Amino acid sequence: MKKIAVIGTGLSALSLVHHLPSQDITFFEKSWRPGGRISTRNHGEYAFDHGAHYLKVDHGMIGLNEFLEKIDAIKILKGSFCRNISQNLPIEEKEIIIGKEGNQSIPLKFHEYLHFPTHFSTKITNIENIKQDYYLIAGEEKFGPFDYVFCAMPFEQSKNLLDKFIDYSDIPNIEFDAIWTIMLAFNKRLGAPFQFGYHLTPEISFLMNQNFKHEYFNEECWVVNMRADWTKQYYNIENYVLEDYVVSQIKKAFQSNSDAIFKKSHRWKYSYTKKSLNDHNSKNFISSIDNRLYAFGDWCEGPSIQDAWLSGKKLAKHFSEVRLG
Ligand SMILES: Cc1cc2nc3c(=O)[nH]c(=O)nc-3n(C[C@H](O)[C@H](O)[C@H](O)COP(=O)(O)OP(=O)(O)OC[C@H]3O[C@@H](n4cnc5c(N)ncnc54)[C@H](O)[C@@H]3O)c2cc1C
Repeated sequence: MKKIAVIGTGLSALSLVHHLPSQDITFFEKSWRPGGRISTRNHGEYAFDHGAHYLKVDHGMIGLNEFLEKIDAIKILKGSFCRNISQNLPIEEKEIIIGKEGNQSIPLKFHEYLHFPTHFSTKITNIENIKQDYYLIAGEEKFGPFDYVFCAMPFEQSKNLLDKFIDYSDIPNIEFDAIWTIMLAFNKRLGAPFQFGYHLTPEISFLMNQNFKHEYFNEECWVVNMRADWTKQYYNIENYVLEDYVVSQIKKAFQSNSDAIFKKSHRWKYSYTKKSLNDHNSKNFISSIDNRLYAFGDWCEGPSIQDAWLSGKKLAKHFSEVRLG
């Protein structure tokens, strides 16, 4: 069996490992939990899906829903949705897929199902090549040897790790939008006629009620996403300034006198890929000349969870046929 290191435990990494034939695999993850940008933040009794909000029912990725159902990770939910709030578009009933106990159920159950050893809270800062074998460095610790290393993280992060092994001069720069997300609990109902929707104001691109997803808290909780261009302009805004501003904007938009009794914000440096690697040059991953180091992730295919799944699946197919076959 080949010794394989997978850096990252986001959906791309999990999908790759799921689609590979049985190998000696070890995950390395800088966070204390699996899932990357699929994340549920718990604060006291509140829970906020402050990364990915939901998986589309009609995402078109064959096998994905069936697999997530099989591992008991998801449920289907109906919510009232508005495509464009500021333009007063009609409220629709929309079916979405979410994690059973917060979206974190998706990577948690998936990672548990795969059952491979994982080094959590282990940020890989360097890769070394000694006598054809690869070693991973995390601070003072060294892991290896490995036959193959798969980096399943946003483009720029994998480039920082791999650029001494891969010539990036012919590879397009894959850009990501940064997004500020704000988690809020209000003491009184805001009176919103929808549970999730786009374009509340020119600055707020999306907001989603968390009560109908999580069910178990009394106060009205919301996750709010700022627009990417606004985030770029106010990239270094103080958290408390941002949170107060967003609360005032929301109260104004809903003409509400509710008070925010909980406020927290998080800036995602990498949220959505603007243009995928595949859109740039029809490639599905990046590899070193010796074909032993690979970089992949949602950014190879598109901006969403299903693209992360597809990216891992495509690379597993290629690798199984060409390297293991
Ligand atoms: C705010 C926001 C909202 C979103 N909303 C949606 C949505 O509603 N629907 C949807 O389909 N998609 C949504 N997305 C996109 C979706 O979350 C991503 O497409 C998907 O989760 C990407 O998975 P990934 O595995 O490719 O990358 P990630 O999830 O980013 O995984 C990368 C992993 O690598 C780890 N890592 C990075 N560097 C290192 C290192 N040096 N050493 C060890 N580990 C490392 C990270 O901790 C992380 O776990 C949203 C994203 C954001 C940020």
